[in-house]
Amino acid sequence: MATPDWSEGFPVEVGAYVLGLAEASPETAGYWEGVARNALLLKRCPRCRAFLHPRRMVCSACGTVPLEWRQASGRGTIYTYSAVHRAPRPELKDSIPYYVGIVALEEEVHLFTRFFAREPGRIRIGAAVSVEFRQLETGEKLPVFFVAESP
Ligand SMILES: [Zn+2]
Repeated sequence: MATPDWSEGFPVEVGAYVLGLAEASPETAGYWEGVARNALLLKRCPRCRAFLHPRRMVCSACGTVPLEWRQASGRGTIYTYSAVHRAPRPELKDSIPYYVGIVALEEEVHLFTRFFAREPGRIRIGAAVSVEFRQLETGEKLPVFFVAESP
């Protein structure tokens, strides 16, 4: 078996599946319907009003099912991030370095995402961010988070 050229990146394959960024599943279908119309949706418990990650099927606070979809504020802060300096796919080569990480939403839900800043050097832990919907280099439209501009 030939040694892969790690500098070129490679797709992560599991059996017949290539792991991508946007994979709809029954419990997340509502989330992707929201993304299609530029709305960031979260699950919410109709009983205790807790907001929950889009993949949740049962309220982790009180056990209620089913959960409902509610639009999120789209505002949060950078909980953690990493700069990617080696493109995992050829389409991303012209974008490095780019930034991925976890946004802590106002609703106390954490999502994995991509971070952008209109001014260089503004991506840092704790920075205020807000959602925008972008068609990324890989062709998928996803919610991403932009650092708020300085006043
Ligand atoms: Zn609940």
